Amino acid sequence: DPDTGLDPLEFAVTRNLAAKSPAQRDEILASPGFGQHFTDHMVDVCWSVRGGWHRPRVSPYGPISLDPAAAVLHYGQEIFEGIKAYRHADGSIHTFRPDQNGRRLQRSARRLALPELPVPYFLQSLRELIAVDGAWVPSGADQSLYLRPFMFAKEAFLGVRPAHKVAYYLIASPAGAYFKGGVQPVSIWLSEDYSRAGKGGTGAAKTGGNYAASLLPQSEAYENECDQVVFLDQDRNIEELGGMNVVFVYKDGTIVTPQSDSILEGITRDSLLQLARDRGHHVVGRNVSLTEWREGVASGDIVEVFACGTAAVVTPIGILKGKDFIDEQPTGTLALELRQELTDIQYGRVEDKHDWLYRL
Ligand code: PMP
Repeated sequence: DPDTGLDPLEFAVTRNLAAKSPAQRDEILASPGFGQHFTDHMVDVCWSVRGGWHRPRVSPYGPISLDPAAAVLHYGQEIFEGIKAYRHADGSIHTFRPDQNGRRLQRSARRLALPELPVPYFLQSLRELIAVDGAWVPSGADQSLYLRPFMFAKEAFLGVRPAHKVAYYLIASPAGAYFKGGVQPVSIWLSEDYSRAGKGGTGAAKTGGNYAASLLPQSEAYENECDQVVFLDQDRNIEELGGMNVVFVYKDGTIVTPQSDSILEGITRDSLLQLARDRGHHVVGRNVSLTEWREGVASGDIVEVFACGTAAVVTPIGILKGKDFIDEQPTGTLALELRQELTDIQYGRVEDKHDWLYRL
């Protein structure tokens, strides 16, 4: 690697002799849903204090054997990423800004006291998996292959300290169009009894515990007939949804998004905001209080609110519901225009001016 001086890893490849047949695979790819089906292979790389990164493998997809005392099962020392591979009309396969996912995995690793996987190794792991499972990247409208890199503490030791043995894995799961029959606005439940993150906590890291903590408030959202939860910080500023960032569009064209150390910095959000800047919008990251949101909508200052993330790309927010109010949200056209522009780049339908695509 020209930047890091690292040599590529030498992966030992073991083919899956029980791989799905092309007919079985096509049947799955016809309606893959999300996260239910997995490709024929997986990648793993070991890490230890003494040996660093070693034993890179591509193996048949299947169960992992873990010691019951593996630290991850007790103390949750775990991180992950989420990234999609897209098939273009010419058959080629691309991911979108994977260097950003690689760097975010490193930031998550730092916070969870896990080793930082060098970005060139991260990118190589994506290429190795696609080299054997490329046929699993679907070609239907809005379909993709969802890639799930993750890393966990596998050392068998019940003391509370960073594990001396760690595993990095990459698995992949075909994903269908998130919205069948067109993008629908989502309804959002305001979580007031539970928070997702605190100052100095793990909110900015993509770590399992954050998602475990979001499940109870998410079920409260369902009980209140809402699709998703929005979390506040200790000062009643808007943070984010359980798995998406939030963006506000103002009447004068200014775009505002919450900025804080306890929000997961979305790559989708960063990209949409760049596309908005390209159109001449003024983009600001700062605190947005619940009061500003509600008053802005009431006064007409806020003209559009949307959520964004890899899975759903962009979804307009249609309703904000709290314990004693229901605020209908204004609908505009910017969210869906930016969504179209971004997906056109991801699927290779327009020129990639920002050099965001990475061919696998
Ligand atoms: N916030 C949270 C909590 C998330 O889990 C995600 C999904 N990774 C996002 C925001 C959006 O990030 P991205 O656009 O990189 O998918």
